[in-house]
Amino acid sequence: REVVLTAENLVKHYPIKKGVLRRTVGHVKAVDGVSFELFKGETLGIVGESGCGKSTLGRLLMRLEDPTSGRTTFNGVDMYAQSGERMRRLRRDIQIVFQDPYTSLNPRMTVGDIVGEPFDIHPDAVPKAGRRKRVEELLDLVGLNPEHINRYPHQFSGGQRQRIGIARGIALNPKVLICDEPVSALDVSVQAQVVNLLEDLQNELELAYIFIAHDLSVVRHISDRVGVMYLGKLVEIGDEDQIYSHPTHPYTQALLSAVPVPDPTLRDARDQIVLTGDVPSPANPPSGCRFHTRCWKAQEICKTDEPKLVMRPDGSGEHASACHFAEPRNVVG
Ligand code: SF4
Ligand code: MG
Repeated sequence: REVVLTAENLVKHYPIKKGVLRRTVGHVKAVDGVSFELFKGETLGIVGESGCGKSTLGRLLMRLEDPTSGRTTFNGVDMYAQSGERMRRLRRDIQIVFQDPYTSLNPRMTVGDIVGEPFDIHPDAVPKAGRRKRVEELLDLVGLNPEHINRYPHQFSGGQRQRIGIARGIALNPKVLICDEPVSALDVSVQAQVVNLLEDLQNELELAYIFIAHDLSVVRHISDRVGVMYLGKLVEIGDEDQIYSHPTHPYTQALLSAVPVPDPTLRDARDQIVLTGDVPSPANPPSGCRFHTRCWKAQEICKTDEPKLVMRPDGSGEHASACHFAEPRNVVG
């Protein structure tokens, strides 16, 4: 398999400033050492509760922000080492679709201008004379009527607005599309349509997705592989079926046990795990394993020694877990 994007020990700490002198009193460790590879044409789901750092991770991969340390590569090129024209060209290949189709589209711009906006930034992508045609093609590709090119965002439904956001995201023929909670703001009935659209586009355009979400069932449907984040760290990553059927990290097991089961008679088999305690502050994460304050399997070593993200002992697939006591737990349903 061909690697398109890598994250190598990515770290993003935000200073916390206090008082009139704005002295730095600490840091929010939003992303704290995340590494993974993204393969050509695949979907890597990133799941975790809000505040786990998944959106920050998306912004770092887009280079909307620079990391505190670590690096990302695109087709082997170190992204943070690029500047000027070379960075501008790299940006064409990695695009983003945001969560909220209501606020991410400028209400004063027509749909045609919104979808064509990337061509203002990258005028060499499409010759000026061919722009309108290209925008109409893009609208058609995402299932919108090209005749509506002069309408404004408020004239569309939520699902249609997210299609507009997706059309803008693919306008420059990117290789990687970062989808940050792309369906979370939509009605459940519309979510599947947008997910299906993303899958169709992936097949047609050979796109790789990073699909960020807190909803595990949506992620399962679209992902080839899934990474689970907790307090700025990736705690488990592996093939979709491994993560959902045989999770080895206690946090993943707890997240999955909270997912509603379609058939309630399966509930017992799933042994619901109820996590106690709040998510600790990312400004002051627990020592050792960050999950130890909420983990029912925690031992003394968990308070002092940070577990590394390592392949499971049985070496099945690409399944890695950051737990001193990782072992599979079968999930039914
Ligand atoms: Fe729980 Fe310890 Fe594993 Fe952390 S390392 S998840 S505290 S058992
Ligand atoms: Mg988020």
